[in-house]
Amino acid sequence: MAITYEFIKTCKQTGARLGKVHTPHGSFDTPAFMPVGTLATVKTMSPEELQEMNANIILSNTYHLWLRPGEDIIEEAGGLHKFMNWDGAILTDSGGFQVFSLSDLRQIEEEGVHFRNHISGEKLFLSPEKAMHIQNALGSDIMMAFDECPPYPAEYDYMKKSVERTSRWAERCLTAHKKPDTQGLFGIVQGGEYEELRRQSAEDLTSLDFPGYAIGGLSVGEPKDVMNRVLEFTTPILPENKPRYLMGVGSPDSLIDGAIRGVDMFDCVLPTRIARNGTCMTSNGRLVVRNAKFARDFRPIDENCDCYTCRNYSRAYIRHLVKNNETFGFRLTTYHNLYFLLKLMEHVRQAIREDRLGDFREEFFEQYGFNKPNAKNF
Ligand SMILES: [Zn+2]
Repeated sequence: MAITYEFIKTCKQTGARLGKVHTPHGSFDTPAFMPVGTLATVKTMSPEELQEMNANIILSNTYHLWLRPGEDIIEEAGGLHKFMNWDGAILTDSGGFQVFSLSDLRQIEEEGVHFRNHISGEKLFLSPEKAMHIQNALGSDIMMAFDECPPYPAEYDYMKKSVERTSRWAERCLTAHKKPDTQGLFGIVQGGEYEELRRQSAEDLTSLDFPGYAIGGLSVGEPKDVMNRVLEFTTPILPENKPRYLMGVGSPDSLIDGAIRGVDMFDCVLPTRIARNGTCMTSNGRLVVRNAKFARDFRPIDENCDCYTCRNYSRAYIRHLVKNNETFGFRLTTYHNLYFLLKLMEHVRQAIREDRLGDFREEFFEQYGFNKPNAKNF
Protein backbone atom coordinates (compact mmCIF):
# COMPACT_ATOMS: atom_id res chain seq x y z
CA MET A 1 0.00 0.00 0.00
CA ALA A 2 1.26 3.45 -0.91
CA ILE A 3 -0.10 5.13 2.22
CA THR A 4 -0.01 3.72 5.75
CA TYR A 5 -1.03 5.23 9.07
CA GLU A 6 0.98 4.61 12.21
CA PHE A 7 -1.09 5.27 15.33
CA ILE A 8 0.99 6.45 18.30
CA LYS A 9 -1.44 7.43 21.05
CA THR A 10 -4.69 9.13 22.03
CA CYS A 11 -4.69 12.20 24.29
CA LYS A 12 -6.19 11.14 27.65
CA GLN A 13 -7.78 14.57 28.13
CA THR A 14 -9.46 14.69 24.68
CA GLY A 15 -10.07 12.30 21.81
CA ALA A 16 -7.13 13.65 19.76
CA ARG A 17 -4.80 11.16 18.05
CA LEU A 18 -1.06 11.37 17.61
CA GLY A 19 0.27 9.50 14.59
CA LYS A 20 2.35 9.43 11.46
CA VAL A 21 1.41 8.98 7.82
CA HIS A 22 3.95 7.23 5.61
CA THR A 23 3.98 8.07 1.88
CA PRO A 24 6.29 7.27 -1.06
CA HIS A 25 7.74 10.79 -0.52
CA GLY A 26 8.46 10.66 3.19
CA SER A 27 6.39 10.68 6.37
CA PHE A 28 4.58 13.42 8.21
CA ASP A 29 3.43 13.69 11.83
CA THR A 30 -0.28 14.04 12.55
CA PRO A 31 -2.37 16.01 13.30
CA ALA A 32 -0.93 17.89 10.32
CA PHE A 33 -1.74 21.07 8.43
CA MET A 34 -1.08 20.97 4.67
CA PRO A 35 -0.28 24.28 2.90
CA VAL A 36 -2.13 24.68 -0.40
CA GLY A 37 -0.21 25.04 -3.67
CA THR A 38 -3.10 25.30 -6.11
CA LEU A 39 -1.10 25.73 -9.33
CA ALA A 40 1.92 23.58 -8.33
CA THR A 41 3.26 26.41 -6.17
CA VAL A 42 2.43 27.59 -2.65
CA LYS A 43 2.04 31.19 -3.75
CA THR A 44 5.27 33.21 -3.19
CA MET A 45 7.08 30.35 -1.33
CA SER A 46 9.97 28.27 -2.70
CA PRO A 47 10.09 24.52 -1.94
CA GLU A 48 13.24 25.20 0.15
CA GLU A 49 11.34 27.67 2.32
CA LEU A 50 8.53 25.16 2.82
CA GLN A 51 11.06 22.52 3.88
CA GLU A 52 12.70 25.00 6.24
CA MET A 53 9.38 25.47 8.07
CA ASN A 54 8.83 21.67 8.22
CA ALA A 55 5.95 21.42 5.78
CA ASN A 56 6.25 17.76 4.81
CA ILE A 57 3.10 17.57 2.73
CA ILE A 58 1.40 20.11 0.49
CA LEU A 59 -1.80 20.07 -1.52
CA SER A 60 -2.33 20.82 -5.19
CA ASN A 61 -5.53 21.25 -7.18
CA THR A 62 -6.37 18.80 -9.95
CA TYR A 63 -8.93 21.06 -11.61
CA HIS A 64 -6.52 23.97 -12.01
CA LEU A 65 -3.59 21.82 -13.20
CA TRP A 66 -5.84 20.00 -15.65
CA LEU A 67 -6.80 23.35 -17.25
CA ARG A 68 -3.32 24.89 -17.01
CA PRO A 69 -0.74 23.65 -17.96
CA GLY A 70 -2.53 20.30 -18.57
CA GLU A 71 -1.72 16.95 -16.92
CA ASP A 72 0.07 15.73 -20.08
CA ILE A 73 2.78 18.39 -19.72
CA ILE A 74 3.26 17.55 -16.03
CA GLU A 75 3.44 13.83 -16.81
CA GLU A 76 6.02 14.54 -19.53
CA ALA A 77 8.07 16.49 -16.96
CA GLY A 78 8.20 13.32 -14.82
CA GLY A 79 5.22 14.05 -12.56
CA LEU A 80 4.24 16.87 -10.24
CA HIS A 81 7.11 16.35 -7.75
CA LYS A 82 9.74 16.78 -10.50
CA PHE A 83 7.82 19.50 -12.31
CA MET A 84 7.77 21.74 -9.20
CA ASN A 85 10.99 20.42 -7.61
CA TRP A 86 9.27 19.26 -4.39
CA ASP A 87 10.54 16.09 -2.70
CA GLY A 88 7.95 15.95 0.05
CA ALA A 89 4.51 14.38 -0.12
CA ILE A 90 1.74 15.83 -2.29
CA LEU A 91 -2.01 15.40 -1.98
CA THR A 92 -4.23 16.28 -4.93
CA ASP A 93 -7.95 16.86 -4.68
CA SER A 94 -10.29 15.38 -7.29
CA GLY A 95 -11.36 18.59 -9.01
CA GLY A 96 -14.91 18.01 -7.85
CA PHE A 97 -15.02 20.82 -5.33
CA GLN A 98 -13.84 23.39 -7.90
CA VAL A 99 -16.33 22.18 -10.48
CA PHE A 100 -19.13 22.54 -7.94
CA SER A 101 -17.99 25.88 -6.54
CA LEU A 102 -16.48 27.75 -9.52
CA SER A 103 -18.76 26.74 -12.28
CA ASP A 104 -22.24 28.19 -12.74
CA LEU A 105 -23.21 26.16 -15.76
CA ARG A 106 -22.99 22.61 -14.58
CA GLN A 107 -25.10 19.57 -15.07
CA ILE A 108 -24.70 16.56 -12.82
CA GLU A 109 -25.41 13.17 -14.34
CA GLU A 110 -24.70 9.62 -13.25
CA GLU A 111 -21.77 9.52 -15.67
CA GLY A 112 -20.14 12.73 -14.37
CA VAL A 113 -20.45 16.50 -14.50
CA HIS A 114 -20.73 18.75 -17.56
CA PHE A 115 -19.59 22.32 -16.93
CA ARG A 116 -17.88 25.33 -18.44
CA ASN A 117 -14.21 26.13 -17.89
CA HIS A 118 -14.15 29.19 -15.56
CA ILE A 119 -11.36 30.79 -17.64
CA SER A 120 -12.33 30.27 -21.28
CA GLY A 121 -15.98 29.25 -21.06
CA GLU A 122 -15.16 26.06 -22.99
CA LYS A 123 -17.44 23.04 -22.33
CA LEU A 124 -15.78 20.31 -20.23
CA PHE A 125 -16.68 17.02 -18.63
CA LEU A 126 -15.29 15.56 -15.41
CA SER A 127 -16.05 12.04 -14.21
CA PRO A 128 -14.61 9.60 -11.68
CA GLU A 129 -12.53 8.00 -14.46
CA LYS A 130 -11.24 11.35 -15.73
CA ALA A 131 -10.35 12.54 -12.20
CA MET A 132 -8.35 9.33 -11.65
CA HIS A 133 -6.65 9.63 -15.03
CA ILE A 134 -5.50 13.20 -14.29
CA GLN A 135 -4.30 12.40 -10.76
CA ASN A 136 -2.45 9.29 -12.00
CA ALA A 137 -0.68 11.51 -14.54
CA LEU A 138 0.18 14.08 -11.84
CA GLY A 139 1.63 11.30 -9.66
CA SER A 140 0.53 12.71 -6.27
CA ASP A 141 1.12 10.52 -3.21
CA ILE A 142 -2.47 10.91 -2.02
CA MET A 143 -5.32 11.16 -4.51
CA MET A 144 -8.91 12.03 -3.71
CA ALA A 145 -12.00 10.24 -4.99
CA PHE A 146 -14.34 12.25 -7.22
CA ASP A 147 -17.36 13.18 -5.12
CA GLU A 148 -20.26 15.56 -5.13
CA CYS A 149 -20.01 18.36 -2.59
CA PRO A 150 -23.53 19.79 -2.15
CA PRO A 151 -23.88 23.32 -0.79
CA TYR A 152 -24.93 24.09 2.80
CA PRO A 153 -27.73 23.81 3.65
CA ALA A 154 -29.07 21.01 1.46
CA GLU A 155 -32.38 19.17 1.81
CA TYR A 156 -32.25 15.67 3.28
CA ASP A 157 -33.69 14.01 0.15
CA TYR A 158 -31.18 15.68 -2.14
CA MET A 159 -28.33 14.87 0.22
CA LYS A 160 -29.36 11.20 0.34
CA LYS A 161 -29.31 10.91 -3.46
CA SER A 162 -25.99 12.72 -3.55
CA VAL A 163 -24.42 10.44 -0.91
CA GLU A 164 -25.52 7.37 -2.86
CA ARG A 165 -24.08 8.77 -6.08
CA THR A 166 -20.82 9.66 -4.32
CA SER A 167 -20.57 6.02 -3.14
CA ARG A 168 -21.10 4.72 -6.69
CA TRP A 169 -18.52 7.21 -7.98
CA ALA A 170 -16.06 6.07 -5.26
CA GLU A 171 -16.34 2.51 -6.53
CA ARG A 172 -15.69 3.67 -10.10
CA CYS A 173 -12.66 5.64 -8.86
CA LEU A 174 -11.18 2.51 -7.30
CA THR A 175 -11.63 0.59 -10.55
CA ALA A 176 -10.12 3.41 -12.66
CA HIS A 177 -7.13 4.05 -10.35
CA LYS A 178 -4.12 2.62 -12.19
CA LYS A 179 -1.29 3.07 -9.67
CA PRO A 180 -2.38 1.81 -6.23
CA ASP A 181 1.19 0.74 -5.39
CA THR A 182 2.59 4.27 -5.63
CA GLN A 183 -0.47 6.47 -5.07
CA GLY A 184 -3.00 6.08 -2.24
CA LEU A 185 -6.64 6.92 -2.99
CA PHE A 186 -8.79 8.39 -0.18
CA GLY A 187 -12.59 8.13 -0.10
CA ILE A 188 -14.65 11.19 0.91
CA VAL A 189 -17.47 10.86 3.44
CA GLN A 190 -20.37 13.21 2.65
CA GLY A 191 -23.84 13.57 4.15
CA GLY A 192 -23.94 17.20 5.28
CA GLU A 193 -25.26 17.70 8.79
CA TYR A 194 -27.35 14.49 8.77
CA GLU A 195 -26.00 11.81 11.10
CA GLU A 196 -27.84 8.99 9.34
CA LEU A 197 -26.39 9.98 5.96
CA ARG A 198 -22.85 10.42 7.32
CA ARG A 199 -23.18 6.89 8.73
CA GLN A 200 -24.44 5.53 5.42
CA SER A 201 -21.64 7.26 3.52
CA ALA A 202 -18.98 6.03 5.97
CA GLU A 203 -20.31 2.45 5.78
CA ASP A 204 -20.38 2.47 1.97
CA LEU A 205 -16.85 3.83 1.73
CA THR A 206 -15.20 1.78 4.47
CA SER A 207 -16.53 -1.37 2.81
CA LEU A 208 -14.36 -0.38 -0.20
CA ASP A 209 -11.27 -0.29 2.08
CA PHE A 210 -9.52 2.95 1.09
CA PRO A 211 -6.11 3.71 2.68
CA GLY A 212 -7.58 6.93 4.17
CA TYR A 213 -10.84 8.85 4.53
CA ALA A 214 -11.71 12.49 4.13
CA ILE A 215 -14.64 14.26 5.71
CA GLY A 216 -16.05 16.47 2.98
CA GLY A 217 -18.87 18.95 2.82
CA LEU A 218 -17.79 20.89 5.92
CA SER A 219 -16.37 24.42 6.07
CA VAL A 220 -18.88 25.33 3.35
CA GLY A 221 -20.61 28.10 5.31
CA GLU A 222 -22.12 26.16 8.23
CA PRO A 223 -21.72 27.49 11.80
CA LYS A 224 -18.76 26.11 13.78
CA ASP A 225 -20.97 24.23 16.23
CA VAL A 226 -22.52 22.33 13.29
CA MET A 227 -19.03 21.37 12.06
CA ASN A 228 -18.03 20.19 15.53
CA ARG A 229 -21.23 18.19 15.96
CA VAL A 230 -20.79 16.49 12.57
CA LEU A 231 -17.19 15.61 13.45
CA GLU A 232 -18.32 14.19 16.78
CA PHE A 233 -20.55 11.63 15.13
CA THR A 234 -18.42 11.04 12.01
CA THR A 235 -14.87 10.33 13.25
CA PRO A 236 -15.95 7.46 15.58
CA ILE A 237 -17.41 5.55 12.61
CA LEU A 238 -14.18 5.76 10.59
CA PRO A 239 -11.51 3.03 10.87
CA GLU A 240 -8.93 3.66 13.60
CA ASN A 241 -6.05 2.39 11.50
CA LYS A 242 -6.52 4.91 8.64
CA PRO A 243 -5.86 8.66 8.51
CA ARG A 244 -8.83 11.07 8.63
CA TYR A 245 -8.68 14.28 6.66
CA LEU A 246 -10.97 17.27 7.24
CA MET A 247 -11.05 19.19 3.96
CA GLY A 248 -10.84 22.98 3.72
CA VAL A 249 -10.24 23.84 7.38
CA GLY A 250 -7.38 26.13 8.49
CA SER A 251 -8.40 28.67 11.12
CA PRO A 252 -6.44 28.10 14.36
CA ASP A 253 -9.51 27.39 16.51
CA SER A 254 -10.95 24.88 14.02
CA LEU A 255 -7.61 23.06 13.72
CA ILE A 256 -7.50 22.54 17.50
CA ASP A 257 -11.20 21.65 17.72
CA GLY A 258 -10.86 19.24 14.77
CA ALA A 259 -7.85 17.50 16.32
CA ILE A 260 -9.77 17.13 19.60
CA ARG A 261 -12.49 15.32 17.63
CA GLY A 262 -10.04 12.85 16.09
CA VAL A 263 -9.02 14.48 12.80
CA ASP A 264 -5.45 13.83 11.53
CA MET A 265 -5.07 16.06 8.46
CA PHE A 266 -6.25 19.52 7.42
CA ASP A 267 -5.72 21.89 4.49
CA CYS A 268 -6.85 25.41 3.69
CA VAL A 269 -5.94 28.41 1.54
CA LEU A 270 -6.72 30.68 4.50
CA PRO A 271 -3.17 31.42 5.80
CA THR A 272 -1.75 32.11 2.34
CA ARG A 273 -4.81 33.98 1.03
CA ILE A 274 -5.12 36.39 3.97
CA ALA A 275 -1.33 36.94 3.91
CA ARG A 276 -1.65 38.47 0.44
CA ASN A 277 -4.18 40.84 1.91
CA GLY A 278 -1.82 41.89 4.70
CA THR A 279 -3.55 39.87 7.44
CA CYS A 280 -1.48 37.80 9.88
CA MET A 281 -2.25 35.13 12.45
CA THR A 282 -0.40 35.77 15.71
CA SER A 283 -0.36 34.26 19.19
CA ASN A 284 -2.37 37.32 20.31
CA GLY A 285 -4.96 37.07 17.55
CA ARG A 286 -5.47 38.54 14.12
CA LEU A 287 -3.20 41.40 13.04
CA VAL A 288 -3.95 43.46 9.93
CA VAL A 289 -0.48 44.77 9.19
CA ARG A 290 -1.66 47.25 6.56
CA ASN A 291 -3.48 49.29 9.25
CA ALA A 292 -2.23 52.86 9.80
CA LYS A 293 -1.48 52.19 13.47
CA PHE A 294 1.52 50.06 12.46
CA ALA A 295 3.24 52.82 10.41
CA ARG A 296 5.78 53.46 13.20
CA ASP A 297 5.59 50.06 14.91
CA PHE A 298 9.07 48.55 14.71
CA ARG A 299 8.23 45.34 16.56
CA PRO A 300 7.93 42.03 14.68
CA ILE A 301 4.49 40.79 13.55
CA ASP A 302 4.41 38.36 16.48
CA GLU A 303 6.78 38.90 19.39
CA ASN A 304 6.45 35.22 20.33
CA CYS A 305 7.39 33.97 16.84
CA ASP A 306 10.90 32.97 15.73
CA CYS A 307 10.21 32.66 12.00
CA TYR A 308 12.39 34.26 9.31
CA THR A 309 9.96 37.18 8.96
CA CYS A 310 9.68 37.90 12.67
CA ARG A 311 13.42 37.56 13.30
CA ASN A 312 14.31 40.12 10.61
CA TYR A 313 11.51 42.56 9.74
CA SER A 314 9.21 45.01 11.48
CA ARG A 315 5.49 45.65 11.20
CA ALA A 316 6.29 49.14 9.85
CA TYR A 317 8.47 47.78 7.04
CA ILE A 318 6.04 44.98 6.10
CA ARG A 319 3.13 47.47 6.17
CA HIS A 320 5.05 49.73 3.79
CA LEU A 321 5.71 46.81 1.39
CA VAL A 322 2.17 45.45 1.49
CA LYS A 323 0.64 48.94 1.02
CA ASN A 324 2.74 49.30 -2.14
CA ASN A 325 1.93 45.81 -3.42
CA GLU A 326 5.58 44.82 -3.20
CA THR A 327 5.95 41.05 -3.74
CA PHE A 328 8.46 40.77 -0.90
CA GLY A 329 5.82 42.00 1.56
CA PHE A 330 3.48 39.16 0.54
CA ARG A 331 6.33 36.67 0.82
CA LEU A 332 7.03 37.82 4.38
CA THR A 333 3.40 37.63 5.55
CA THR A 334 2.91 34.25 3.80
CA TYR A 335 6.05 32.85 5.41
CA HIS A 336 4.90 33.96 8.85
CA ASN A 337 1.32 32.66 8.54
CA LEU A 338 2.39 29.21 7.32
CA TYR A 339 5.10 29.00 9.97
CA PHE A 340 2.56 30.01 12.61
CA LEU A 341 0.10 27.24 11.67
CA LEU A 342 2.79 24.57 11.27
CA LYS A 343 4.16 25.54 14.72
CA LEU A 344 0.64 25.46 16.14
CA MET A 345 0.28 21.85 14.94
CA GLU A 346 3.62 21.03 16.58
CA HIS A 347 2.27 22.42 19.86
CA VAL A 348 -0.95 20.42 19.36
CA ARG A 349 1.06 17.19 18.86
CA GLN A 350 3.19 17.94 21.91
CA ALA A 351 0.04 18.57 23.99
CA ILE A 352 -1.42 15.21 22.84
CA ARG A 353 1.85 13.51 23.81
CA GLU A 354 1.50 15.06 27.27
CA ASP A 355 -2.27 14.32 27.56
CA ARG A 356 -3.09 18.02 27.93
CA LEU A 357 -4.67 19.17 24.67
CA GLY A 358 -7.78 20.39 26.56
CA ASP A 359 -5.60 22.66 28.73
CA PHE A 360 -3.63 23.79 25.68
CA ARG A 361 -6.89 24.74 23.95
CA GLU A 362 -7.94 26.88 26.92
CA GLU A 363 -4.56 28.65 27.09
CA PHE A 364 -4.38 29.21 23.33
CA PHE A 365 -7.97 30.46 23.04
CA GLU A 366 -7.42 32.83 25.99
CA GLN A 367 -4.26 34.35 24.53
CA TYR A 368 -5.63 34.43 20.98
CA GLY A 369 -8.76 36.20 22.17
CA PHE A 370 -11.28 33.58 21.00
CA ASN A 371 -12.86 33.66 24.46
CA LYS A 372 -13.66 37.39 24.27
CA PRO A 373 -17.13 38.42 23.15
CA ASN A 374 -16.93 39.75 19.54
CA ALA A 375 -13.60 37.96 19.02
CA LYS A 376 -12.49 38.46 15.45
CA ASN A 377 -11.90 35.25 13.59
CA PHE A 378 -11.14 34.92 9.91
ZN1 LIG B 1 6.70 34.95 12.43
